[in-house]
Amino acid sequence: MSVATSMYKAVRHQVSNLGKLKKGIPVAPSPLTSMTLDYDDVELARTWLQDRQSWFDESPVAEFETSFAEWNGSRHAIAFMNGRSALSACIAALNLRPGDEVLVAGYTCVVVPNAFKFAGVVPRYVDIELDTFGIDAGGLERHVSSKTKAILIQHLYGYVCRDFETLLRFAATHDLKIIEDCAHSTGAEFRGVKVGNFGHAAFYSTEQSKVLNTVQGGLAVTNHDWIADGLRKYANSRARQSEDQIDRQLNTLVFNYYRFKHPKRWLLGDYYAVKLGGKRLVTTTPAELEGRKPDCYGCRMVAPVASLGLNQLRKLDAYNDQRRRNSVRWDEWCDKHNVSRPVVLKHSTPICLRYPVLLSAREKADTSWARETLGIELGVWFRTQIHPIESDIPACKRAKEAVLRCVNFPTLF
Ligand SMILES: *Cc1c(COP(=O)(O)O)cnc(C)c1O
Repeated sequence: MSVATSMYKAVRHQVSNLGKLKKGIPVAPSPLTSMTLDYDDVELARTWLQDRQSWFDESPVAEFETSFAEWNGSRHAIAFMNGRSALSACIAALNLRPGDEVLVAGYTCVVVPNAFKFAGVVPRYVDIELDTFGIDAGGLERHVSSKTKAILIQHLYGYVCRDFETLLRFAATHDLKIIEDCAHSTGAEFRGVKVGNFGHAAFYSTEQSKVLNTVQGGLAVTNHDWIADGLRKYANSRARQSEDQIDRQLNTLVFNYYRFKHPKRWLLGDYYAVKLGGKRLVTTTPAELEGRKPDCYGCRMVAPVASLGLNQLRKLDAYNDQRRRNSVRWDEWCDKHNVSRPVVLKHSTPICLRYPVLLSAREKADTSWARETLGIELGVWFRTQIHPIESDIPACKRAKEAVLRCVNFPTLF
């Protein structure tokens, strides 16, 4: 974005803030993203911006991988530029081949089916349940053929998916490889074990809207040595991110702190948008929205990002605890408004990245009511079945309903 455009937007925003102040509408509603960033993360990003010669050092990356694996209770963790690249590494390491099929929830992020398609693997979309928004184990059988080689088990919004044990048994019966999508649920537990340790491999995201935030980043984990070898082989075969990308990522972290977290974000967000407007990172490229592989894809994580990841990891348990405690506000809201609370699977501990509920289609279409009456930004994950691209999977009826009605409350404010 040009400086002129950023300035124009900033001025318009401040004028609209004045209008809101007059009407008594909050000018800085609790946002949905970047809430785990603190000033120490900003200082760290600034230190790395001054230390370009160390950007490709290996040791911070190895340290982050070891620390994450230990925290997660996993044997191996390998860090990548984003979660989708970690998924691509899992696909390669599990030897999924062109023409193979994988069962995927028809309610996900476009980068997930993209990762399969880039490897020639065909996603077969299956419907979800409306309690935790995970795959509904009920109708799975008819999607399985001799080509089905894997299942992607997704734990959404920070909750362990409702049919988890049935899905694990189903996969074992049909000899399917299991990949867990833990992008929303880093730290959630089932029977005292963190999710991501129940299948063959799993991936996590450290993108700015997730619980562990480095603006962009991801990890793949496994408890199998042969899969870890495959993950490393994939990682080592990839090019590195450009210095321009790293520079943008570090500046975006600084910007996000002032735009989303700082108490005076209603003002400082605009100041930093003008200052750093031209230096921000695009996390999902136009090519990916069209289903094409971008030029920069599948790369290893670099040192500054790993070092920020380590700093975030130290704070993660405390922030996840806070998310769980804050969810009580929405439990009470649900009870008062006769809305069903999200289901917490028996023997599980969620981390409540967001608090998902089903409201009316009207309340989802225009979320300004939440800003005005609750002082929060209301999340709309997801707005389409393969978010955010236009997609229509008629067989996934409950996913369609969730697209119309599922909204998500922030859990850090
Ligand atoms: C964010 C997300 C991903 C991908 O993570 P990136 O780090 O952005 O590549 C995968 N699955 C789900 C459900 C997500 O929300």
